Amino acid sequence: MIKIDALPAFTDNYIWLLQDPETRRCAVVDPGDAAPVLAWLSEHPGWQLSDILITHHHPDHVGGVERLKSTSGARVLGPAAERIPARDLALGEGDRVEVLGHSFAIIEVPGHTLGHIAYYQAEQHWLFCGDTLFAAGCGRLFEGTPEQMHVSLSRLAALPAETQVYCTHEYTLSNLRFAQAVEPDNRQIAQRLAQVSEWRQTGRISLPSTLQLERATNPFLRSDEPSVQARIAEREGAKPRSPSDVFASLRAWKDRF
Ligand code: ZN
Ligand code: FE
Repeated sequence: MIKIDALPAFTDNYIWLLQDPETRRCAVVDPGDAAPVLAWLSEHPGWQLSDILITHHHPDHVGGVERLKSTSGARVLGPAAERIPARDLALGEGDRVEVLGHSFAIIEVPGHTLGHIAYYQAEQHWLFCGDTLFAAGCGRLFEGTPEQMHVSLSRLAALPAETQVYCTHEYTLSNLRFAQAVEPDNRQIAQRLAQVSEWRQTGRISLPSTLQLERATNPFLRSDEPSVQARIAEREGAKPRSPSDVFASLRAWKDRF
């Protein structure tokens, strides 16, 4: 059984650490800083870092790669379409890769960056989606268009409801405040906001999320909901033409929220 823990990094990043206690091998996702991973390894003698999974090229996701690879010899997996330091395996849509005895499917999710990929493990219901889908939110559009991001998020949202969403940042509380502004009458958003507020007061992590919860409370997965469309129509003074337009308005609103 693989155990998954979050190693906090910087102010609000998480480096996901997958551990196989039988083989004492582990893998990390998006190590923006090598230090938390090296600290864990030194506290766990006998464990070997076998794989480093990268979702996209931003420094807070790749900053620790070279140091970790040179100290552990781990294999570096990353998107084919981006410059990833020390990458051994270049991955794109439909590729499959074996990590700690589990097969992951690669899903290309352009939007936050153009080459961004997600790692999906269907049997265990794990989704490592970097800065694409956040708990109750989504990544900013640094390189892609709203249309690209909307397609990417729709593809992730179509995965099974029990899928566990392992994203990279602890943005859930501020995302939920925005979600509530979009849908003031959504009871699940209100409940989730109350719960995550409580968790964060004690420093508890709000992740992983599930796709079921995201579909109910994440405005960026809800642009075909009449309540969300009505809210956007009211703000924009015109009826949006498509769910993709609704998404674009939501993203622009959140950027200034
Ligand atoms: Zn990023
Ligand atoms: Fe990031």
